[in-house]
Amino acid sequence: MFIKDIELTNFRNYDILKTDFNQNVNLILGNNAQGKTNLLEGIYLTSIGRSFRTNKDSDLVNFQKEMARIKVNAEKAYFDTSVEITIKKDSKKSIKKDGTTIKKTSELLENILIVIFSPEDLKIVKDEPEKRRKFIDRELCQIQPLYYDSLSNYKKTLAQRNTYLKEEAIDNSILDLWDVQLAQYGARIITIRDQFVRKISGYSGKIHSSITNEKESLFLEYNPNIDLKDDIEEQEGYFYDEIKKSFKNDLRQRTTTKGPHKDDISFYVNGINMRSFGSQGQQRTCALALKLAELNLIKEETEEDAILLLDDVMSELDIERQKYLIKTLKENQLFITTTDIDKNLMTSFPDAKLIYIHNGK
Ligand code: ATP
Ligand code: MG
Repeated sequence: MFIKDIELTNFRNYDILKTDFNQNVNLILGNNAQGKTNLLEGIYLTSIGRSFRTNKDSDLVNFQKEMARIKVNAEKAYFDTSVEITIKKDSKKSIKKDGTTIKKTSELLENILIVIFSPEDLKIVKDEPEKRRKFIDRELCQIQPLYYDSLSNYKKTLAQRNTYLKEEAIDNSILDLWDVQLAQYGARIITIRDQFVRKISGYSGKIHSSITNEKESLFLEYNPNIDLKDDIEEQEGYFYDEIKKSFKNDLRQRTTTKGPHKDDISFYVNGINMRSFGSQGQQRTCALALKLAELNLIKEETEEDAILLLDDVMSELDIERQKYLIKTLKENQLFITTTDIDKNLMTSFPDAKLIYIHNGK
């Protein structure tokens, strides 16, 4: 699939931007702080309805304005689609898909499929667990609306339970209402994450051995905070029991200490844990394999070639890895930002559309 064109109005540092895109490669060029990442952010927003760098929608509206709008038209394997998002500083955003306003953000999912790869992602192996959970959540939300709903319900319930745990007097029957819900949503999250990590491990393993000329073998392991059970019902019952067991501890710490909000994943190369023992180059290769694996997984689940946003990432990779990337990404629409006119990039993509950004124009 590919995005045909975009229209940004009062989005970040843009007043009005209207442009069409190349079906294959788009090189977005400009000095620092001109609006390159902002443009990628606008594009990304149309996939899951939220930004990859802020949770506050109002940040997306131009400082001087009250309302922002993002519109894209895209072409997919079997039909065309359009997405229009309107963000007002003082109220909820509204989203139109194919001209019709949708009620829940989850209705937007599985429509425009986008993977973003930024220098932040290169650190995913050694970063704190929260970053890896975010990665899993972001990817799963795109391809599984059920996951999106379970996750947002889990987060809401968790926040309410944690607020309640800070009160003076705790009524067990009230707490139990949240425990039941946490177990229900949490069990779904754990089960879906387990399947996801298995699949992505298979794909990234293959890509990783190809990048390393079969010298190294990558394996991803899911480390759930609550032990895995065979099926979702058993998982729910077990998680519920675990919440009950940790009640005293939760009360002492005044927060929910057990659950998928504490999950992690580990990367092993030739059996060695990359977070503790990987060289920087090895950690980056794992990250690259993981990102490319996402594209494979999306293809498997949706039959679509996802759009790939590469924000300042080319210059962070050595020539060998750059070449690998270029060689593998023939089918995907690419948006690549860079600050300098990179001769290598220009010759690698002779037919690319060049988009020069200067001060939001
Ligand atoms: P770099 O090469 O450094 O990554 P960039 O071209 O990617 O730069 P962006 O991150 O797109 O730069 O940001 C461009 C500018 O947009 C920044 O100077 C930032 O302060 C400004 N900006 C961010 N949010 C808003 C907003 N809501 N209203 C107006 N300007 C904003
Ligand atoms: Mg940038």
